[in-house]
Amino acid sequence: MSNQNENQKDVKFADFPLSETIHQSLDQAGFERPMPIQAACIPPALEGKDVIGLAQTGTGKTAAFAIPIIQRLANKMELGALVLAPTRELAAQITAVFNELGKSSGLRVATIVGGVPMDQDYGALRSWPNVLVATPGRLNDHIENGRVLLDEIEILVVDEADRMHDMGFIPQIRRIIAVLPRKRQTMMFTATMADDVERIARKNMRDPVRIQIGICAPAHRAKQEIFELSEDAKRPLLLKLLRKSTGRVLVFVRTKRGVDSLTRIVNARRLKAAKIHGDLEQDHRDRSLADFRSGHCPILIATDIAARGLDVSGIEHVINYDFPHNAEDYVHRIGRTARVEASGLATSFATLADRRFVNEVRKLIGDKLPKPTRLEGYATPSAKAMSEKKTRGRYVPNRRSRRRAGTANKSA
Ligand code: AMP
Repeated sequence: MSNQNENQKDVKFADFPLSETIHQSLDQAGFERPMPIQAACIPPALEGKDVIGLAQTGTGKTAAFAIPIIQRLANKMELGALVLAPTRELAAQITAVFNELGKSSGLRVATIVGGVPMDQDYGALRSWPNVLVATPGRLNDHIENGRVLLDEIEILVVDEADRMHDMGFIPQIRRIIAVLPRKRQTMMFTATMADDVERIARKNMRDPVRIQIGICAPAHRAKQEIFELSEDAKRPLLLKLLRKSTGRVLVFVRTKRGVDSLTRIVNARRLKAAKIHGDLEQDHRDRSLADFRSGHCPILIATDIAARGLDVSGIEHVINYDFPHNAEDYVHRIGRTARVEASGLATSFATLADRRFVNEVRKLIGDKLPKPTRLEGYATPSAKAMSEKKTRGRYVPNRRSRRRAGTANKSA
């Protein structure tokens, strides 16, 4: 397995045999130097080798596979590359990268994802794309009804294979691979190598070049803090943090219903929050993302699956309102801040019941995870606070917070 090494720091895009048009697009995108995953991945990918990239979003992996595909397929007529992505948002981001870097090379990209009317897909498929970006479920629908022919595919990319696995997409991917030509290049990107993912790779790839970009890369840049507190104290502390915050904040909540209710509460406090989770219509998700990107809603409240892979620049603060039950999700979540060269803050709330999950994360990333801090007034609900909760139906941990929440007078 080749690892990111010091020499790669000196690599320039000019070192790669890429067309002049691609170099111009890279300049226009402001990409001065290849990121480590690009430096390691582009040369073997251009040679047509299979590649496994162990890297998460934020490392520049999209351009690592998009650039060689653009170089190989520009100006071809046939549908030559298929990129599978787990979520609609990630598919949209991948499409945007292909368009940004490939349009002037004549590359045509189509996207087919679930949650939009099928008619839209027919239009996309009729546009003679040479790259198809798709989520597995919707692509299988089209394969089954004979609307899409994949027999000229030369390059398959499976992006975020670990997340595909978590979302139960592996059988769908197997069905798609079964209709692709056997002679093709396969590139797979994943943050971790789950057994199922390893099996898919072993069965469907030929002598792949393995490239590993440190899983904790974003953790180096983001400042992390963990507050140990009671479940009841999470909400007032969150509101306090949101009020103090000046930039964009991404808040992770475990369940879709949790996202809905927290978004209602935050908006009722005149803080502008958008939400995103898997049950929302595509239109709603697009609007939430656009509002967050534009800064119209500086707060985005999301579940893991919906937020995975989101490329929104300038997220200053990530808050784990619910501590993740999966250590890798922690790394992914805090990777939403401090992307590329920016730095950011990742705050996690952990209840006593979350201790074992905090330990799991520590096993994964070691001492970079700070020790949990017990916050005065938020640690555990006092007997008095609990009785207040019973009488008022709401727990506010101390007088200052009560004043801020506008309840001090009412209870006086
Ligand atoms: P990704 O991991 O593909 O989601 O990329 C993360 C971010 O890095 C995106 O905002 C890209 O636009 C940006 N990026 C990718 N490659 C480069 C590069 N060579 N130089 C600067 N930024 C880049």
